[in-house]
Amino acid sequence: MSRIYERVALIGLGLIAGSMALAMRRRGLAGEITGYARSEATRKTAAELGLVDRVCETASEAVQNADLVVLCVPVGAMGAVAAGIAPHLKKGATLSDVGSVKRVVIKAVAPHVPDGVHFIPAHPLAGTEKSGPTSGFAELFDNRWCLIVPDGETSPEAKEKLRQLWLGMGANVDEMDPDHHDLVLAVTSHVPHLIAYTMVGVADDLARVTNTEVVNFSATGFRDFTRIAASDPTMWRDVFLSNKDATLEILGRFTEELFTLQRAIRTGDGNQLYDYFTRTREIRRGIIEAGQDTDAANFGRNGGAK
Ligand code: NAP
Repeated sequence: MSRIYERVALIGLGLIAGSMALAMRRRGLAGEITGYARSEATRKTAAELGLVDRVCETASEAVQNADLVVLCVPVGAMGAVAAGIAPHLKKGATLSDVGSVKRVVIKAVAPHVPDGVHFIPAHPLAGTEKSGPTSGFAELFDNRWCLIVPDGETSPEAKEKLRQLWLGMGANVDEMDPDHHDLVLAVTSHVPHLIAYTMVGVADDLARVTNTEVVNFSATGFRDFTRIAASDPTMWRDVFLSNKDATLEILGRFTEELFTLQRAIRTGDGNQLYDYFTRTREIRRGIIEAGQDTDAANFGRNGGAK
């Protein structure tokens, strides 16, 4: 794979930015990669790791002359960061982001985008519960989807370049409109995270159990919940605050289904439970057939990075 952008600037140097830098390097997709993060500690770690070619002291310095700038900060910080870098963006550059919610990011960032800069939001559907500059790895996006969220005026050439970059980083690429994206992600990611947070919270409320049985006998279902519930608090706070409508819509449906199952358990309706679980098992099979997870025990995890 050959070079797609001469200069790429990553604003934020955590899991996603780090993984992008490593994935770009793997295939030589960028000439030079610059990076900036808010805290000196993160900048120092990123520099020591050689995560990017040049760690800059300011975001405006990092974006200077960049052909592609990617905002890799929490959703709630996107608007302020965009406002800060806007005057320093090169004419003809592409500005993108990796935020987990799209409508709110577009609303926060678009007003700051100068004429002549292509703003093309995106969201790689790949992550782990880890965060920070040491958590990235080059394979994070392999065979995962990246959704590009262009609008009607997006330059086809700029969009194609960004698509090529994500393909080069190992992802499959599709396009979606922002509202549909936010609804789909509420179903597939946001509400499941909320449920995991809640379940771990419930176990914690049973403190007398937590100290003994819950920890010692933690079965795979609960263990998977705790892994998800260890995800970054800032990121997930921002996700729920910024995808409020879709999350509440899906949560409402979830609650109705939960009541249906609760009733089936109370009334001893085994057929209903069996049929329900048969249907959900089919969904799992579909995910494995689509290559989006593995059938290996413990989901193929060795207690490691994913
Ligand atoms: P992360 O590991 O916590 O990294 C966030 C980075 O943003 C850190 O380097 C942080 O710097 C920096 N940052 C925060 N506020 C900033 C500001 N105002 N100005 C400059 N830098 C700032 O987070 P992540 O997992 O990479 O997530 C980044 C984005 O990707 C989020 O929008 C998230 O929604 C999206 N995303 C995440 C996942 C996932 O599973 N994690 C998946 C897909 C998309 P400091 O370290 O100095 O605070």
